[in-house]
Amino acid sequence: MKNYDVIVVGGGPAGLFAAGFAARKGAKVLLLEKNPHCGAKILITGKGRCNVTHSEDDPRKFVEHFGRNGKALLTALYAFGVKDVVSFFEEQGVPLKIERGGRIFPDKGEAKDVQKAVIAFARDAGVEMRTSCTVKKLLVEDDIIKALETTAGAFSADNIIVATGGLSYPETGCTGDGYAWAKACGHRVVKPEAALVPVKLNDAWTAEVSNFNLKNVRISLCVDGKKVDERFGEAFFTRAGIGGPIILDMSSRIRDELKKGEVKLLLDLKPAVATELFDKRLQRELAEQSNQEFGTSLGGLLPRDMIPVFLRLVGIDPKKKCHSVTKVERQRLLKLFKELELSVSSCAGFRKAIITSGGVSLKDIDMRSMRSKRVKNLFFAGEMIDLDGPTGGFNLQECWSTGYLAGISAAEA
Ligand SMILES: Cc1cc2nc3c(=O)[nH]c(=O)nc-3n(C[C@H](O)[C@H](O)[C@H](O)COP(=O)(O)OP(=O)(O)OC[C@H]3O[C@@H](n4cnc5c(N)ncnc54)[C@H](O)[C@@H]3O)c2cc1C
Repeated sequence: MKNYDVIVVGGGPAGLFAAGFAARKGAKVLLLEKNPHCGAKILITGKGRCNVTHSEDDPRKFVEHFGRNGKALLTALYAFGVKDVVSFFEEQGVPLKIERGGRIFPDKGEAKDVQKAVIAFARDAGVEMRTSCTVKKLLVEDDIIKALETTAGAFSADNIIVATGGLSYPETGCTGDGYAWAKACGHRVVKPEAALVPVKLNDAWTAEVSNFNLKNVRISLCVDGKKVDERFGEAFFTRAGIGGPIILDMSSRIRDELKKGEVKLLLDLKPAVATELFDKRLQRELAEQSNQEFGTSLGGLLPRDMIPVFLRLVGIDPKKKCHSVTKVERQRLLKLFKELELSVSSCAGFRKAIITSGGVSLKDIDMRSMRSKRVKNLFFAGEMIDLDGPTGGFNLQECWSTGYLAGISAAEA
């Protein structure tokens, strides 16, 4: 005799949505979460502000951001898309607003308000939540999950939804348990890789300007001297290298290119001004301050924190008067502004990865219902499936949409 209609494993955004919407459909739902609280990862999203979704509300255009597998997400997006997410949070008392680049955040609140709202939704829908309960094993017989073995005993249900996330930020509870279970019952798992990661550089000086925001910059990716990619937007230096949206979005490409040759990033701090024009600006600045020391002349061009680093990198004596700066020296300065060379050593691993790419193969999931093609009463949702989007709210939207679809499908199965 089954105790529950649906058991959801994993209380992240995908699992909470799956559980809540299954319960709203009238199912008796149990949610099992290994942490003492659900939604630990939500708290650290969007630097504590949670980029809940993205303003691209046309599903066909939205899925283009997911690359090779994107179209598989269409049914889930049509079932619960960007507009549904915005209305959902509005109803839960967390109105959202669109910010730069189409990123959607809570209007006034923070990530913790998103976490609270989703937990409250699942609880109010009637979901029974067991936290500090780790699922250890799925007991499968004749392609059916008969029971779940957990640290709090065995549980059984007609249908099981696994939403255990990926491998990134393991301190949030994401240790890839679902991949092992999926494999054990016959699913193909595309090799999980750390994705949307910061990049490590050989240039030790970045530690001096770590967390320094680079707004509206252009970064070109070069392999053995050849430009292969280019992005415009935001980045920031870290203690060991460089991170931020444009770097994260290029990181999978950078990882691939590192296998092929020497990888450099060229940072253009003034992308809106052509090189020749910027040279004229430099000449003007130096002429206007001709009797001042070069070391005090960069204030109008650079934020204060960057100046000591620039002075060292450019190799011009800071005591030298501006009128004595030679053309060759000025050309070196110009290059720092327009093509500051950063030498890439490696990409960060799972500990610093925003998401995990790869996961349960879409070939083994019916994406119209999120149901497994291998095990009759098993459904998947969220990051653990082989779908990964760029920064900007795309990955959480994938979790809301697939969580919703898995929840209603499991409740109706
Ligand atoms: C630093 C950071 C910032 C991010 N910012 C954004 C952002 O602003 N916007 C965006 O769209 N995306 C962002 N992401 C990505 C987003 O957070 C994830 O894609 C999303 O949380 C995945 O949701 P999920 O429900 O699939 O898995 P998770 O959120 O990882 O939840 C899985 C849950 O399953 C539980 N679990 C695992 N194994 C077991 C087990 N054996 N038994 C019981 N429970 C188990 C875990 O404890 C965890 O609570 C960010 C990620 C990080 C790391």
